[in-house]
Amino acid sequence: MYNFTFHRPTTVRQAAGLLARNPEAKLLAGGHSLLPVMKQRLAQPSALIDLSLVEGLSGVEQKGRSIVIGAMTCHADAANSPVLQQVLPGLASVPASVGDPQVRNRGTIGGSIANNDPNADYPAAVLGLGATIITNKRRIAADDFFKGMFTTALEDGEIITKVSFPVAKKAAYEKFKHPASGFALVGVFVSKRGSDIRVAVTGAGANGVFRVKSFEEALKKRFAAKSLEGMTIPANGMNSDIGRHWPARGKRVARRRRAIRGSREPPFAGGPANNLERSGNRFA
Ligand SMILES: Cc1cc2nc3c(=O)[nH]c(=O)nc-3n(C[C@H](O)[C@H](O)[C@H](O)COP(=O)(O)OP(=O)(O)OC[C@H]3O[C@@H](n4cnc5c(N)ncnc54)[C@H](O)[C@@H]3O)c2cc1C
Repeated sequence: MYNFTFHRPTTVRQAAGLLARNPEAKLLAGGHSLLPVMKQRLAQPSALIDLSLVEGLSGVEQKGRSIVIGAMTCHADAANSPVLQQVLPGLASVPASVGDPQVRNRGTIGGSIANNDPNADYPAAVLGLGATIITNKRRIAADDFFKGMFTTALEDGEIITKVSFPVAKKAAYEKFKHPASGFALVGVFVSKRGSDIRVAVTGAGANGVFRVKSFEEALKKRFAAKSLEGMTIPANGMNSDIGRHWPARGKRVARRRRAIRGSREPPFAGGPANNLERSGNRFA
């Protein structure tokens, strides 16, 4: 790794101040995406601003008809939260499905959605429930947050503090796991809240997480799996063949990650594409 300075603020205000004074700095949450790319010398922040001591960024609580998850809440704590399991079990199943115990005990919801890996699980839940991302500066609707792979609406100096999920009457997540990393080859989150029905897909889109409006319309007529029988998603904008072309896709993702580095945009990777590139795995 290159040299960098390390900061441990205890308030969001201090963290924001450090970011303002160090434009080349990066926030550090669980480090499961950021540290691998630093170790590979693919990212060279001048400073790391560790959020682990910042007060008020962790925990899961119910606030009225919403579940609010602090940005620094690790996947294991979210998955095991009694309130989440009781009120919105479909959402609890998302962090429960992430990677392995090591990843679940370090990776955070804030880091996951700020990173917006095209195969990450949380983006499907955030978009599939119509959540609100709360930062130190503003509130961002999920529909406005994800801007393409590894790209979000976050601006320089913006820190995610929490994510607010509306409680849905029904919600579920299913995914095909990458056998090594656990990332979603394809993951689908479906929710029903009154007449609002959402279907969000991660992993399959060439540009990251997306909603499937045609499925949502069909489910509005009748909320049953049968309503989707025979329906397909147009191939345009999808990965051409997840089975046979994953190694090639891995290279595309890696190229995109390098491009992001060059443009100083956030953020980083360490996801399945890299693993596939290294291992040459195929999923025929
Ligand atoms: C082996 C392995 C397997 C994995 N498997 C899965 C999987 O199955 N499913 C899945 O979804 N994910 C998976 N992950 C990713 C993991 O779950 C983490 O969520 C992810 O690495 C990012 O979270 P983090 O807390 O580690 O963030 P970090 O690596 O610390 O940060 C990532 C990026 O987000 C920025 N950031 C962090 N916190 C904030 C904040 N509060 N506000 C603004 N920006 C912020 C950082 O500056 C950095 O740019 C895996 C990772 C590994 C290493």
